[in-house]
Amino acid sequence: MSGRTVTVLGATGSVGRATLDLIARAEPGRFDVVALTANTNAEQLAEAARTVGARFCAVADEAAGPALKAALSGTSIACGAGESAVLEAAAMDADWVMAAIVGAAGLKPTLEVVRRGRCVAFANKEALVCAGELFMAEARRSGATLLPVDSEHNAVFQAFNEAQREGIRRIILTASGGPFRLSSLDAMAVAEPAQAVAHPTWSMGAKISVDSATMMNKGLEIIEACHLFALPDDQVDVLVHPEAIVHGLVEYADGGLLAQLGCPDMRTPIAHALAWPERLDTPVERLDLARIATLSFSAPDEVRFPALALARAAYRAGGCAPTVLNAANEVAVDSFLNGKIGFLDIAAVVADALSEGRRSGVTDEGARNFEAVYAADAEGRRMAHSAVIARAGGRRGTAAESR
Ligand code: NAD
Ligand code: MG
Repeated sequence: MSGRTVTVLGATGSVGRATLDLIARAEPGRFDVVALTANTNAEQLAEAARTVGARFCAVADEAAGPALKAALSGTSIACGAGESAVLEAAAMDADWVMAAIVGAAGLKPTLEVVRRGRCVAFANKEALVCAGELFMAEARRSGATLLPVDSEHNAVFQAFNEAQREGIRRIILTASGGPFRLSSLDAMAVAEPAQAVAHPTWSMGAKISVDSATMMNKGLEIIEACHLFALPDDQVDVLVHPEAIVHGLVEYADGGLLAQLGCPDMRTPIAHALAWPERLDTPVERLDLARIATLSFSAPDEVRFPALALARAAYRAGGCAPTVLNAANEVAVDSFLNGKIGFLDIAAVVADALSEGRRSGVTDEGARNFEAVYAADAEGRRMAHSAVIARAGGRRGTAAESR
């Protein structure tokens, strides 16, 4: 393969850095980097742009613009700051774009890419949760190719024979179970942010690490899978598999299961998307099944991890319920990381926001267009903020009582 032009949105994050690592290791000329974006970290972005020889880079935070400019002085790399600069980066001509901005913040830039009919490596699952139908419709219209990067979806993508769709009974997404897989509810109630972000098998950004701890990540992934593979949610199952070796499975009518396996390193699914339809060498540790010897699986515990059922219910409710679910979860995770609410309050805040959304009719609104999605996202955040204040007040009350 020669000269694939690539852009990385969210280049300073965990997925973005893994992508750049693969690009930097590839033989010269295989990838030509067009643009890189980040939220605020100008120095890290500039460093990455110099390493891979990007043409343009953009920070979303206007205030970080001068620092980016200074860090790139003496180079020919152009730069910009603010939301419009990120959109400009997304709109630049590139064969392949990694969509790895975290959260609903990735909606607009990712849409910009999909509308241009590019090959899109889709890591930004929240965008699909918020507006999956709209994204899939835009991709059909523009001819964009969506390549799943989430390890489970990437695995299913590789095992899913579209020509035999009629013979596919279900897909299975595995879940490591996160750091609280074996914890009691009492222990989870007092869990600190540092414990929640310390994922046992995967090294990831803070938000997705907390989502893994609550298992909201798997809930978001069920919705992501329904959109990517055009399946109803009762054909998307979850299996807890702490070793995180088997990433996803497809069950066929004849009883056969096809799976993709690999060490838990995001560079494997990223490389699959980066070179697709070819393959790329990676420095990822090889799987030694004889050494591993045993793999374990169990059903998820939906009592200790209510986020799973919340996500399924929001998907089934349709309308803007998944958008509200996602927005409320982003606010709740942030509030937990900032010490405002406890770990178990995360799912409770999401449930509060969804109930309030049902009462006020926000979740019934159809996700007709992106404007409706942005409005539901804003409403979801507002409702979640109120729920955080109510629960934080309750927590302070309890703490005061116990003193
Ligand atoms: P991260 O927090 O490490 O990085 C996020 C990136 O997005 C950073 O480059 C950051 O600068 C940028 N960003 C954040 N807010 C922004 C904003 N408002 N505007 C523009 N850019 C912004 O996150 P991550 O772990 O790399 O995850 C990225 C996405 O990939 C998420 O949607 C996550 O669910 C998904 N994903 C990640 C992993 C993983 O292993 N980390 C695995 C599967 C899926
Ligand atoms: Mg995943």
